[in-house]
Amino acid sequence: KIDANYTLLEENDVRPRLLKRDPFAHKGKMGNALIIAGSYGMAGASVLATKACLRVGVGKVTTHTPKRNCNILQVSVPEAIIQFDREETTFSEAVDTEDFNALGIGPGLGTSEQTAIAIIAQLRRSQCPTVVDADAINILASHRAWLQQLPKGIIMTPHPKEFDRLEGHSGDSFERLMKARDLAERLQAYIVLKGHHTSLCLPDGHIIFNSTGNAGMATAGSGDVLTGIITGLLARGYNQENACVVGMYLHGLAGDIAARELGEESVIASDLIQNLPYAFKRLN
Ligand code: AMP
Ligand code: MG
Repeated sequence: KIDANYTLLEENDVRPRLLKRDPFAHKGKMGNALIIAGSYGMAGASVLATKACLRVGVGKVTTHTPKRNCNILQVSVPEAIIQFDREETTFSEAVDTEDFNALGIGPGLGTSEQTAIAIIAQLRRSQCPTVVDADAINILASHRAWLQQLPKGIIMTPHPKEFDRLEGHSGDSFERLMKARDLAERLQAYIVLKGHHTSLCLPDGHIIFNSTGNAGMATAGSGDVLTGIITGLLARGYNQENACVVGMYLHGLAGDIAARELGEESVIASDLIQNLPYAFKRLN
């Protein structure tokens, strides 16, 4: 039985949370985001997260990625600044975050020992609001002692399998949701448990169910787009709760607009990014 407070997220709950764009804005004041993503063979994850991040209004995005992916990123996302790792094929060194307003880490990083050490070191030293996704979650699942040491206020965006790696197998989605709520309270974290109705578990035990999204989004790269969106919103100045709420709603709405135009069967993750502007416009 759900004993926590819960809310079903509707458009009218999202609209008041949106930040206005200052007419005098310049890029130095609109947020500086850092994405750490990609490995050899998984450059696409970093491309998707980076593009999505740029589409939510952030001033600047820097993507840290292994050397071999740099050209791919520079060509695919000319708007991004690329910071390359000293390693050719994997993430190997934690980087400074003091110039950044938000960090998104995990998509396509892989789980080699070298990368695991770098991810843990990165989470230890990062000072800015952080989104932990994909392989960064998988690494934490195999180094569980580190979970307790994460800074408060961290955002995690597991899909059900990643969540089960963290907290053990759940018999059904309700059991998983209760575990996610407990984890959010225990770590004082924001857990975005992804799925058909993505559920945001807040540090105070409250649960917010998303109402947008469709089965067309069950396709490779969808989650990487969400990581980019939430990271961008954080950098743009949204607090953790609003970045998660606005981010998951926009992500699903972009998916719904894409599905209406293209049909659920044919939606791919890039379509979510292309439709983000229309999702924003509907809310404005
Ligand atoms: P990932 O598995 O990390 O690529 O994340 C998949 C993303 O797509 C999450 O944001 C999910 O909420 C979304 N998604 C996947 N399948 C569905 C579905 N059947 N209905 C709604 N959203 C979905
Ligand atoms: Mg994913």
